[in-house]
Formats: sequence, structure tokens, C-alpha cells
Amino acid sequence: MSLRPLFGHEALRRRLAAAHRAGRLPSSLLLTGPRGVGKQRLALWLGQRLLCTEADRWDAGVAEPIEPCGTCPHCRYALRLQHPDLHWYFPRPRLKDGDASADDVRADLADVIAERMEAQGLWAASSGLDALYVATSRAIVQTASKRPAMASRAVFVIGDAERMVSQEGADQAANAFLKLLEEPPEGTTLILTSSEPGALLPTIRSRVVTLRIAPLSPHDMHAFLRDEAVQARLGRGTADDSAMLAQAGGCPGRLFEDAAGADARDAARQLLDAALAPRSPDGDAQRALVAAATGVSKARGAYADALDALSGLLHERIRDAIDAQLERHARRCAIAIARLEAYKLRTQQNVTPQLLTAALLDDLADLLARP
Ligand SMILES: [Zn+2]
Repeated sequence: MSLRPLFGHEALRRRLAAAHRAGRLPSSLLLTGPRGVGKQRLALWLGQRLLCTEADRWDAGVAEPIEPCGTCPHCRYALRLQHPDLHWYFPRPRLKDGDASADDVRADLADVIAERMEAQGLWAASSGLDALYVATSRAIVQTASKRPAMASRAVFVIGDAERMVSQEGADQAANAFLKLLEEPPEGTTLILTSSEPGALLPTIRSRVVTLRIAPLSPHDMHAFLRDEAVQARLGRGTADDSAMLAQAGGCPGRLFEDAAGADARDAARQLLDAALAPRSPDGDAQRALVAAATGVSKARGAYADALDALSGLLHERIRDAIDAQLERHARRCAIAIARLEAYKLRTQQNVTPQLLTAALLDDLADLLARP
């Protein structure tokens, strides 16, 4: 399994490859552009290009190489997101009440990266609730202080960098990160991405060279939609290309946001149905079945999204109950939302989704199910 190829951005790829060959590539870059346009995918491509040892062994007289070779060990590891010197950080839920260690941060990211790899690199944007917490900044600084493990250089991709949170009492970590951006160790490249560069800390913005990523052309979007893995993931053929082109607006990642959102809503509806099933042997059996099925095929991120969607469904129920003057039910739904929030916090700990769902459904059934 490896990442799907990068589609589009040819002119930029040419510029980046040429700058690298000439030794002119800035060591701290910021890729900006609309959400879902593929900034992190492009950053991973650039990481692979920088680590590839073969691409620049070209004969004069042949066209200058733009692409990484795709076959050297560095390329193969990079394409599987397993290169020990290609580091990828992006927003995640806060890990613990206290301080998570760099190992905790890396282990958490490794789980999600494995999920994204399983999806062949066709991932949706991080949930809006996720952030780059201080523990993550510390992990980046700590990792960057080590020598590369396999290559002669190291590349850090830091997605959604505007979600780097400053935290009281963590000035030291923030300053260490800024120093890293300003003067990375020899052979280290940092590639930040952001769809809201205006929200970036000014201290970060002033230390990076910004490159703007344009939406894909309709031609590149067509090529993307014709990709086998893309079609399998979206579960549809090319018949309604034009609808999808309009939906994506040149940003392929947006297609998966919707696919992931639809999955989450389906899962949430199942959970709600089970919670509303009567307190009877049949109802209890339905809850047990739904709980047992949770998390089996669903990745942890997808489970959290399903719980978010369930919260949305409960909010809708409150509105409906108020309209129908069923105040008692509205109040119970509000309590259910509060309980659900407590369960959501527990998903970030090491509890299996099955056990958590069983307890959640039991709890919600007490509140919502008919006697
Ligand atoms: Zn290579």
C-alpha cells in the first residue's frame, strides 16, 4: 500500500525541484491555499523529493528531473509514510490533562497516519476541534534535535499550523519552536501548511517563506476522479463527474470530508436508534449488537466523528421536541448531550470503543428509551 500519486501543481513542483537542486530551497516554508486543496499531500511529496537520493543523478542533456524517482528506499518508505526522517504532525485532540510526552504525541499520530495510509492517503481534513498543543511543539523540537536516522536530512510537515495553540506557562516550548523555524539544524526542512494563514501567530509567519497553492484545474480534477482508489473510496463511478467537480471546487480533499461526514452521520443514526429502542430484551439486544459492531472497522478518528454527529442529532431532537411542546423530552435530550460530552473525553483515553459504546447506549437508553 502506498500513497496515491500527487495530482496537479506541476509548475510549483518544477519550481520546488529546481530550487532544491540549486540549493536555494528555504529551510522553513509555509504552503497556504484553500482547505482540501492538498497542501499536506504536496508537502509530503516535497519531503519525498528532498529525501530521494536518485532523482538528481541525471545526465546533462536529459530534461531536468522534477519528480522523486519513486523506487529508491527513501521513496518507498516515504510513499508508505514510514520514512524515519519524514515527520508529519497535524492537529489532534488534547491527549491528557497533564503533559503528554513526545512519545505519547508520536504514538497518537502514528495511529492516525496508519489509518490514513490504509485509506491510501485519501484523508479528510482534521476535525475543527483538534489542535497542535504544546506537547506537539515540544515533540517537534525534540525530534528535530536528533540526527536523521536513515537519510542525510530530515523533513517536518506540520499541517494546519494556525492551530498551534499558545498556552500559559509554555513560553519555553513556544520559543524553542520559533528558534527551530528560524534556524533549523543543517539539512532540516520544515514545511508548514495553513488554509487560514491570517490566523497564524505573527511570530511564525515572519519566519517562513510563503507559497500559495492554487486549486486544481478541471483537467487535474478529472484525472484525480479517474483514479481507481479515489473511485473506490467515493463509492461511485465517473458518471456524475460534473457534480463532484462543482462540489470540490478544485480541492480534492473536500470530497472525502463529505464521504467521512456521511459515514459519521450513518453511524450516529444507528447509535441513536439503539439508544431509543425500548427497555426490553429486544431493545437491549439491539444495543448490544450496535456496541459490539462499533470500532471494529472504524478507526478511532471515525469513532470520535460519529459521536460528534450523534451530538448533532440530539440537538436536532431538542429543537423538534420544543416545537412539539415535549419539554420533558427536550430536557432529557439536553442531559443526554451532557453525558455524551463526558464519554467523548473518554474516547481519548485507552478505552475500547465497544465498551464505551455499551456504557453510553445503556446510559442514554435510561434517559431516552420508552419503558
Ligand atoms: Zn527516490
